[in-house]
Amino acid sequence: MNNAELWQAALGEIELSISKANFSTWFKNTTILSNENGKVVIGVPNGFAKEWLENKYNTYIFRALRNFRDDIREISCIIYSNEQAPAGATRKMDSVAQVADQQSSAENYQANTYVQQPLQGAMNPAAPNAAFENNINSRYTFENFIIGENNELARAACFAVSQNLGKIYNPLFIYGGVGLGKTHLLQSIGNEVLANDPSRRIKYITSERFANELIDSIRNQTVNDFKSAYQAIDLLIIDDVQFLAGKEKTQNEFFHIFNALYQINKQIVISSDRPPKAIATLEDRLRSRFEGGMIADIGKPDVETRIAILKTKSAENNFYMDEEAIRFIAENVKNNIRELEGALNRIIAACEFNKKLPTLKFVQQALAEIISSGKKKGIQSQHVIEAISQYFNISTRELIEKGRKKEIAYARHIAMYLMRSELNVSYPSIGSQFGGRDHTTALHAYEKINKELENDEKVREDVTILRERIYAV
Ligand code: ADP
Ligand code: MG
Repeated sequence: MNNAELWQAALGEIELSISKANFSTWFKNTTILSNENGKVVIGVPNGFAKEWLENKYNTYIFRALRNFRDDIREISCIIYSNEQAPAGATRKMDSVAQVADQQSSAENYQANTYVQQPLQGAMNPAAPNAAFENNINSRYTFENFIIGENNELARAACFAVSQNLGKIYNPLFIYGGVGLGKTHLLQSIGNEVLANDPSRRIKYITSERFANELIDSIRNQTVNDFKSAYQAIDLLIIDDVQFLAGKEKTQNEFFHIFNALYQINKQIVISSDRPPKAIATLEDRLRSRFEGGMIADIGKPDVETRIAILKTKSAENNFYMDEEAIRFIAENVKNNIRELEGALNRIIAACEFNKKLPTLKFVQQALAEIISSGKKKGIQSQHVIEAISQYFNISTRELIEKGRKKEIAYARHIAMYLMRSELNVSYPSIGSQFGGRDHTTALHAYEKINKELENDEKVREDVTILRERIYAV
């Protein structure tokens, strides 16, 4: 077994034991550079990967390699560039020379756009200067972002990008459910970059606003200004990109802006509630662009992380709770951090209002009220139907009417399932809300999805996201 084969085999093992996102993030473009006297030297593309492989994945790598060669005693990583790569290295990295080339053309390109576009915003207030409102909120920083197992990968990737704009992970794609800290991390990159160099041109925008601004610029015949304003940015952050799904024209313009920035090594950071491949009706070329960079996920925080977050956030408010009261909240508010913050704020308010101390007993009572008032929020079937139609990009009419197309039928089954499981609507009523169908149809849909939830990851993901959306009113 030569080094390349050994590394392939070891990667195969490692891939099975860590998450996909972690695997592709840290093991992409790695190779064995040498293996002598039981000492393996792994080549990695940057210092960041070196740190992670040596500290966090050391034991995994060691174990995997020893499966194939039991004489291996020591592992170390060094940063290498392509020119140094030994023949037969299977996972290639971007050539450093190529990057440097692009950089110089980047400067020329940028100079041009600047000369051509002086003060245009002053003459036409609707036009490009709008793009330079960076929309960065100083509230979100890396300092006040609490690291847990669920978010350490995404956090590390964001931090690395903030220190190396356009140089290491481009584009960076962060995905995860509602309220788990995507916006916080994306904004932190902006704040960090500005703190290090206030002259950097940054733009944070949600994809929805991006779409609206584009439409405005079409209406005002300022599309060219709109585009050139974007193309002069050093760091473009697009939040919640899933809203571009189905908006072909917007995707098309975005694609051009994306390419123009990417080609000159400007940094692009994107977030979404799901991975690129799960965004329905995302143009293939855009999807493959997203997949070409680094993808990192944020999961749900475990109880220890939730406790750490509660402690930090209550200290920020000069509010001090017993350990057991904190644990009680953390054990009962599990879904996401936005809810956790919401619960904490309401408990703080309740304490102030009642002039009580936050003992375990008080917190138990207060939380019971908060939870039940959430359930009673009066979420209606219509709300579920709308959330589903938006998520699958199907009109509510299509969802309700008789169509039998596979995707529509699937969306409809999920809708029926959620109406039953979340709102406890009776089967006959579900049937009648879906174009007068029989109650057995609703029952079958419920049972079908219930069963699929057990072994179909896609279904699980759709249901989880939709459940979060339904309650995020
Ligand atoms: P998302 O964009 O994923 O829906 P946000 O970034 O808006 O979520 O996060 C929701 C709230 O939770 C925000 O107030 C954010 O500051 C807070 N939050 C999320 N994750 C963390 C974290 N790890 N540490 C501290 N606060 C967090
Ligand atoms: Mg967000």
